[in-house]
Amino acid sequence: MKAVRLTGWGEPAQVLPVRVPEPQGAELLLEVRAAGLCRSDLHVMDAPAGVFDYPLPLTLGHEVAGTVVGVGPAADSSWVGESVVVHGVWSCGDCRNCRRGRENYCHELRRRADGRLPAIGNGLGYDGGLAEAMIVPTERFVVRTGGLAPESAAPLADAALTAYHAIRTNQDLVDDQSVAVVVGVGGLGHLAVQILRALGGGTVFAVDPRPESRALAMRLGADAAFADIARIPQSTGADVVFDFVGSDATTNAAAQLLGPGGRLVVVGSGGGRLTVGKDLGLPNGWQVSAPFWGTRADLEAVVDLAHRGLLSVESTAYRLDDALDIYDRLRRGAIRGRAVLVP
Ligand code: ZN
Ligand code: ZN
Repeated sequence: MKAVRLTGWGEPAQVLPVRVPEPQGAELLLEVRAAGLCRSDLHVMDAPAGVFDYPLPLTLGHEVAGTVVGVGPAADSSWVGESVVVHGVWSCGDCRNCRRGRENYCHELRRRADGRLPAIGNGLGYDGGLAEAMIVPTERFVVRTGGLAPESAAPLADAALTAYHAIRTNQDLVDDQSVAVVVGVGGLGHLAVQILRALGGGTVFAVDPRPESRALAMRLGADAAFADIARIPQSTGADVVFDFVGSDATTNAAAQLLGPGGRLVVVGSGGGRLTVGKDLGLPNGWQVSAPFWGTRADLEAVVDLAHRGLLSVESTAYRLDDALDIYDRLRRGAIRGRAVLVP
């Protein structure tokens, strides 16, 4: 089969032939139906040796929808034939955060003593879904998607899940009175606008320099969309600002939008630095957080929102052979919504 593989650090990925894996033990074998491309893949590809504790070669792809076509001898064979989306946080299931249902903060996924980042899951340390087939170690890491189209289901695994977890963990500030701001209406941000609506958010502002992204935000339920954070009316300040860009420019400007008791939630990995302190002019009660991905229960929740028609993924499908070209477009910001490869 074909797979999009990283063979050397700092080198572009390649489409290469690999053997179809055989499921062992409790593993499931998926025929991949769709797999999303993510900016995190670019971070992995661009990294010099020594940043990630991942063995190479590695098949990329951490946003995967597929059909279970085989199981190992210790797995439940009733999974065969099911359409699923893969939960890409391959947590230990046993540490105190896993036992609390916070498996996206599993202790086994913490930075290594030598500073290296550990393997997380498919495409991020283990062979992922930018291939015709992939192995999932256990049924704990799949969620049924029923009749959802694969191109819509795949982005639920990261783009929607990450946005949902960021919003759900700040849900005490999302109500009919709330003012929420979504910075960056790309793969995650366009889903965040819809999730805020679905969870009963009051005023939702969106920010994106691209006119087509602002139009998308308005179509998906934003009250107003701005080209620049500085243009947002600041009458009361925002209760919660979700920064899906995370650059120096956005994070610092976003912090200035907060009202009393407001929270800045930094989701994007744009390399921004923010200096915070109690005497730096931020409003009383400010909070800053940087949530990571989401839990399996969050993934079940976004699948449910999609089934109820409350979450529609803006995605474009491409061929697996075109992966390298699409990564280039993603790097240039030339993808609207989410790019999905269909093997
Ligand atoms: Zn991602
Ligand atoms: Zn754990």
